[in-house]
Amino acid sequence: MSLFEMSDRAKKYQADLLEFMDEHIYPAEAVYDEQMRASGDPHFHPPILEELKAEARRRGLWNLFHPHPEWGPGLTNLEYAPLAEIMGRSHIASEACNCNAPDTGNMEVLTLFGSEEHKEKYLKPLLDGTMASAFAMTEPRVASSDATNIELRMERDGDAYVLNGRKWFASNAMHKNCKVLIVMGKTDPTAAPHRQQSMMVVPVDAPGVTVVRNLPVFGYADREGHAEIVFENVRVPAKDVLKGEGEGFAISQARLGPGRIHHCMRAIGAAERALELMCRRAQSRVTFGSPVAERSNIQDWIAEARIDIEMIRLLTLKAAYLMDTVGNKEARTEIAAIKVAAPEIALKIVDRAIQVHGGAGVTDDFPLAMMYAHLRTLRLADGPDEVHKRAIARQELRQYRDAATAAVN
Ligand SMILES: Cc1cc2nc3c(=O)[nH]c(=O)nc-3n(C[C@H](O)[C@H](O)[C@H](O)COP(=O)(O)OP(=O)(O)OC[C@H]3O[C@@H](n4cnc5c(N)ncnc54)[C@H](O)[C@@H]3O)c2cc1C
Repeated sequence: MSLFEMSDRAKKYQADLLEFMDEHIYPAEAVYDEQMRASGDPHFHPPILEELKAEARRRGLWNLFHPHPEWGPGLTNLEYAPLAEIMGRSHIASEACNCNAPDTGNMEVLTLFGSEEHKEKYLKPLLDGTMASAFAMTEPRVASSDATNIELRMERDGDAYVLNGRKWFASNAMHKNCKVLIVMGKTDPTAAPHRQQSMMVVPVDAPGVTVVRNLPVFGYADREGHAEIVFENVRVPAKDVLKGEGEGFAISQARLGPGRIHHCMRAIGAAERALELMCRRAQSRVTFGSPVAERSNIQDWIAEARIDIEMIRLLTLKAAYLMDTVGNKEARTEIAAIKVAAPEIALKIVDRAIQVHGGAGVTDDFPLAMMYAHLRTLRLADGPDEVHKRAIARQELRQYRDAATAAVN
């Protein structure tokens, strides 16, 4: 029973999604792994994924994330949270339901700031699940957790901009269906710090765009990839600037709010699955005359996992509720808080589940090692922990600043 009462339609989606997970997603995980292994190509697009997408669509479990009724079911963040959590239990479920990052964030940007042409050319195929996209903000040469450092140059030349620079960690750029990049760069280095940046829609095959390499993460070559991309004199028509020149920073804030909380929802799903695996394994393995589950330290881990999951779920739901009721900007402290807490706690639970599995825990016979690698990256992706803590601390300190100034005077 949740403190946040769910609507009937949200309950229906949850029941339908749980059924889809049991009947199709979990049984497909081994098939997916086998198809990937057999292909010998880390960026292969396995046919089972297309079968799952067709089935999800048939069941109406498609684009669940999209808040605008014109393009999706129009669920609130609070209604979507448990659905993202359920999908987070498996590494193939989000894409099967067309709810995977970074496409979700890019679709929201194109919905809010894209032209009619962008919607026709990119948003529609993305919503159809026939196209994939990447978001290119981070750069190897500058500390990108401070987005004002971004250097990729976007210089006006007649009715176009000319792009020069280098990006990395563009997730999804190695996806077989990736056709478009949303690129952030600098159009006016002399403007105020948060007005220097713009975002543009750039086809991945535009002349001058070179995908140099994929960056493996903890040795995993993720199927969607995290690409390093060079831009050399890439001409982008002025009509492909999103929202307007100087609006890049504002768009990135709009994009990252929902994206961050979606990651947290999925992390909770991963933590739940790890706890389930930990309990099953602890009950089935016997050492020194009794099941591992009977040791008090293991019971502590299980109890702490349950307590921690309940806490982060409540904080996630609170952040989602605030986003729905007072808006993403007002909810920014809660979003930052959960972005720090959810990956950290999920990692601790997965780590203990690995320990309970013994050597098996670090193999790919169980999903735990891959979950660990993925969750660890979440402490960096969409902003490192320290940057979110900085924002929370500044907000906390702000309320005492005036009093301190008054006391000094
Ligand atoms: C798997 C993965 C996928 C990603 N996907 C994308 C993507 O699709 N698109 C994209 O553009 N980027 C992506 N990123 C990049 C990610 O957003 C950046 O790595 C992140 O924003 C940090 O930037 P940086 O790597 O340049 O680190 P830096 O900015 O160099 O920071 C390094 C470290 O300094 C510390 N630090 C920074 N500021 C402070 C502070 N104020 N106080 C204390 N410590 C601080 C933090 O510990 C931080 O980790 C991805 C990253 C990973 C790992």
